[in-house]
Amino acid sequence: MVSDEDGNTVPCKLKGNFRLKGIRTTNPVAVGDRVEVEMQADMSIGIITRIFERHNYIIRKATKLSKESHIIAANIDQLVLVATLAFPRTSTGFIDRVLVTSEAYHIPAIILFNKTDLYTEELMPWLEETEKIYLDAGYPCLRVSAKTKDGIEGFKAILKDKVSLISGHSGVGKSTLINVLQPGLNLKIMEISSYHLKGQHATTFPEMHALSFGGYIIDTPGIKEFGLTDFNKQEVAERFPEMRALMHLCRYSNCTHSHEPGCEVIKALEEGRIHPSRYDNYLSIYYGRELNQQ
Ligand code: GDP
Ligand code: ZN
Repeated sequence: MVSDEDGNTVPCKLKGNFRLKGIRTTNPVAVGDRVEVEMQADMSIGIITRIFERHNYIIRKATKLSKESHIIAANIDQLVLVATLAFPRTSTGFIDRVLVTSEAYHIPAIILFNKTDLYTEELMPWLEETEKIYLDAGYPCLRVSAKTKDGIEGFKAILKDKVSLISGHSGVGKSTLINVLQPGLNLKIMEISSYHLKGQHATTFPEMHALSFGGYIIDTPGIKEFGLTDFNKQEVAERFPEMRALMHLCRYSNCTHSHEPGCEVIKALEEGRIHPSRYDNYLSIYYGRELNQQ
């Protein structure tokens, strides 16, 4: 189904044998792709004649041992990571794993702290501290309450005219938030998690949903695999923007930023320019890489 500029959807077929340069994929076209369509004479169906270059895409191996990959979604403008410090608390370990993955896919991420109505006076300093960690690392943060609708206008402004993925642990309020934004949309929200990769949901087609105020939300079962990217240990630090900015200054080009003399990352940590929680999570991702890969 292809949607045109006016929001009309047309059933389409692919022309001939599409093979895109450089990627061996099982599906030539994915949700989020921009395409050129030629309508058949009777206007009943369109033929996709061209797929425009993607500015990013989420991809995974078709099967564990396969050389072919499957494109899950393309041209994603942003990832909205819904977190909360009220029940169920989102750990910085989880946040950092999702952020590392979004960096790997070149998808800008925004952190949305939901359930602010539940934050007590004791929780507020914690929220401020957590926000500071991510603001300092370069990630925009937003506070909302799906219950009181505080901050919802700001959330709408972030989604407007963009293609967004919404992620976060079960129970953080994704469905509630989306229903507040657009009653009746009822997305089948998928968990983006590095840990839970078992198929709990029936197979459905990936879809893009138009928001009435402009923009789209992508809803795809494959998003569960968001936590699985192929990157080696050396690349982990590159997925932390504040480390990426410094690591070329380390004395050794293969510095692991864990113990080496002349390490600019460790120096920044000691001087308070890199937050200890981000650094600890870097180390745990770096050393846990093999475990996560299973
Ligand atoms: P999802 O699993 O991320 O889709 O989370 P849900 O939208 O199902 O929400 C989980 C629970 O949190 C539900 O009981 C919601 O009513 C509740 N909830 C969601 N947002 C808020 C909020 O802003 N404040 C409060 N107090 N509860 C919320
Ligand atoms: Zn270093």
